[in-house]
Amino acid sequence: GPDGILRRQAARESAARTYARSLPIVPVRARGLTIEGADGRRYLDCLSGAGTLALGHNHPVVLEAIRAVLDAEAPLHVLDLATPVKDAFTSELFATLPGDLARSARIQFCGPAGTDAVEAALKLVRTATGRDGLLAFSGAYHGMTSGALSVSGGAPTVRVTRLPFPQDYRCPFGVGGEDGARLAARWTESLLDDPRSGVRAPAGMIVEPVQGEGGVLPAPDAWLRRMRELTAARGIPLIADEVQTGVGRTGAFWAVEHSGVVPDVMVLSKAIGGSLPLAVVVYREELDCWQPGDHAGTFRGNQLAMAAGTATLRHVRENALDRRAGDLGRRMQERLRQLGREYACVGDVRGRGLMIGVEIVDPEVPDAPGTGPCVAGPPPPAPDLAAAVQQECLRRGLIVELGGRHSCVVRLLPPLTITDEQAEAVLDRLADAVAAVWR
Ligand code: PMP
Repeated sequence: GPDGILRRQAARESAARTYARSLPIVPVRARGLTIEGADGRRYLDCLSGAGTLALGHNHPVVLEAIRAVLDAEAPLHVLDLATPVKDAFTSELFATLPGDLARSARIQFCGPAGTDAVEAALKLVRTATGRDGLLAFSGAYHGMTSGALSVSGGAPTVRVTRLPFPQDYRCPFGVGGEDGARLAARWTESLLDDPRSGVRAPAGMIVEPVQGEGGVLPAPDAWLRRMRELTAARGIPLIADEVQTGVGRTGAFWAVEHSGVVPDVMVLSKAIGGSLPLAVVVYREELDCWQPGDHAGTFRGNQLAMAAGTATLRHVRENALDRRAGDLGRRMQERLRQLGREYACVGDVRGRGLMIGVEIVDPEVPDAPGTGPCVAGPPPPAPDLAAAVQQECLRRGLIVELGGRHSCVVRLLPPLTITDEQAEAVLDRLADAVAAVWR
């Protein structure tokens, strides 16, 4: 039974087990937004494989695409050989790319995970520029392999310069809003121009258009454009990590489109594989400096993932699910802000499209330790309260994830196919959970 499975896995798996700790359920069936547990309970899944399931679980077009490959007895593993399945995938993907990338991009299949594509992107810009240093941002998350970790927030490393990521709310300068973003941009510019800073000629800058794991922090458009100007003027390749923001989630097919910024390199994974593992980098032709064999990998040719991914990309495009995500996301955020007016523990509500964060705070704790450099203004984050909200959500059949520097941001990443009624049900359950924890 489910209890035995939970017990055995808890005993067998590494201490690094994460989601399984806060979500002790045993999924056995899933369709769309809904997961069914082995105990027969049903859950609304707003974690969606950490933002992977653009079309929800087991969408018919995805299942059909996978079955077609199986029924044709097409090879499932052919390393990086050209196949009709790959041809369809690259055609569909290239048609979605922003700006001049659509005309002249190169693609490197990596794999199987987002972190592998991040590694490839970092290696690519280092090879192309012949330089070594990298620019990355506070609070970033790019993956768990060593290169990706080095550009994620946390311990500083020698070859990576950490720059302030502007945040509307807990601004690194304690200012917030547009002023905070301007300060962050000026800080970056002065570092780039200061010969003593040692970062004049880095190999690249890597940025998430919306920080996801970092607590759902959208990069302000003007700031991102400024980063594009600063890097372009200095010949520094700009890498956009769209692993989580891609394929319509933020209300545009790619999140960089909101600002009009066209990066030099895009790191793509999660939704592009239609729920199966797939990761690629796409980049400007001029950066294609690799010699044959310079970047390899056994699992660069996952045919099932490419087929599922093609179906997903096409379905999002043909049904304008990106626009739908933008509209519905705005309405959901409005209702969450209303919740914030009713409950003092609901702090900042933010996001883009169906990538939504609700900060759980405790206004009755005047000066909690570890709240960072932000002195005035927002009440301190409340991780314990946030964990309680997550558990109350689960009790009500709603799966949500926590994120952010203090693990106090309730993250909603529903599939783009979520209906208005389902979205209402999600928000009802979240509101009930908040009411249950707030005294
Ligand atoms: N980049 C971003 C922006 C991500 O959100 C993630 C995963 N959450 C990754 C990279 C790493 O992807 P993976 O877990 O597949 O290695």
